[in-house]
Amino acid sequence: MEFNDGRPYHGSEAVTDGKLTGATDQTDYFYFMCPKCPDKRLLRLLDHTLHASSREHPYKDHVDVVAKIGFTIAFKLLCDHCLFTDFVKISNMGWQGGTLEQALSFPGGKP
Ligand SMILES: [Zn+2]
Repeated sequence: MEFNDGRPYHGSEAVTDGKLTGATDQTDYFYFMCPKCPDKRLLRLLDHTLHASSREHPYKDHVDVVAKIGFTIAFKLLCDHCLFTDFVKISNMGWQGGTLEQALSFPGGKP
C-alpha cells in the first residue's frame, strides 16, 4: 500500500518551527509528543516511507565524517487522544550541525 494512499504529505504548521518535540523512553526508542495535547501525550507512528535517498551524501565535501548514504524518512503521526494527524521527516541531508536556533532562523528552513 502506498504511503498516505499516494496523496501528498507535508507537515502542517502544528509541527514546524520547533513545535514538534520528542524524547526517548528508558531505552533508546524515540517518541514524538502531541503538539495539541497539554500533557506530553505520545504520538503513534501509523506509517513510514523512504521519502528520498542518495547514494552519496550531499555534504560529503563539506564534513569531516561522511555518512555512507543520504536518506529522508517520512512518518505519519497520530494522537489517539485528540486524533491529531500530521507528518514529520527525519533526514541526514538537511542541517549538518549548528544549533536549533540557527536552523529555525534560516530563511526557507534548509541550509
Ligand atoms: Zn493530541
